[in-house]
Amino acid sequence: MPEPQANTQPEVPIIVLSGPTASGKTTIVNRLMQESPVKLVKAISATTRPRRKGEVDGEDYYFLTQEEFEERRKNNEFLECEQVHGLGYWYGTLKSEVDRAAKEGGWPFLEIDVQGTLKLKEQFPQAITLFVRTSSDEEYEKRIRSRGTESEEVIEKRLETIRKELEQAKHYSHVIINDELDRAVTEIGTILKQREQEINVG
Ligand code: 5GP
Repeated sequence: MPEPQANTQPEVPIIVLSGPTASGKTTIVNRLMQESPVKLVKAISATTRPRRKGEVDGEDYYFLTQEEFEERRKNNEFLECEQVHGLGYWYGTLKSEVDRAAKEGGWPFLEIDVQGTLKLKEQFPQAITLFVRTSSDEEYEKRIRSRGTESEEVIEKRLETIRKELEQAKHYSHVIINDELDRAVTEIGTILKQREQEINVG
């Protein structure tokens, strides 16, 4: 994991993408990482959640123990961090990830939850905040159950979180309807390109 640095103030906009689980966020992120008209560097979040099958430490997340996470939190190494889902797991964006994006010459691209976004907006009002959702609410339960990987208790908690998160879309600069993947990816690309032009103009 990169070493922490103080006073992270990026000169390029931070891009934040949120949306209820099962909104197709991950697919959108993967597509954007390949096709975005502006170079993006994905910020890898840290979490205390156990690793899921197929996930790789240092790629999907930095998987930390409770103690490791707490230590970094005390050292003020996070831009923001939250306990997500009410399940007791911590998630957070390390400041060092924004520095890494700058070093790699890209815009830091964060996939974080609504609470984290609200905190981040206080520090970076110019952030581009994207909220991804499907047009229909019922689609979520269908998608979550079809994963078939989680207990009923976890599913119920996730559905509750989804209901709350959908109400928070109003805090975002853009709401992206992901009923058609290509259209959603193109829309985000256009938003990024437009900001780049604004920055270049002055
Ligand atoms: P999952 O456990 O499904 O990988 O992620 C659960 C939730 O945690 C998602 O809503 C995701 O956006 C959020 N999340 C992931 N990383 C971060 C982070 O660094 N900060 C915050 N606040 N939320 C995060």
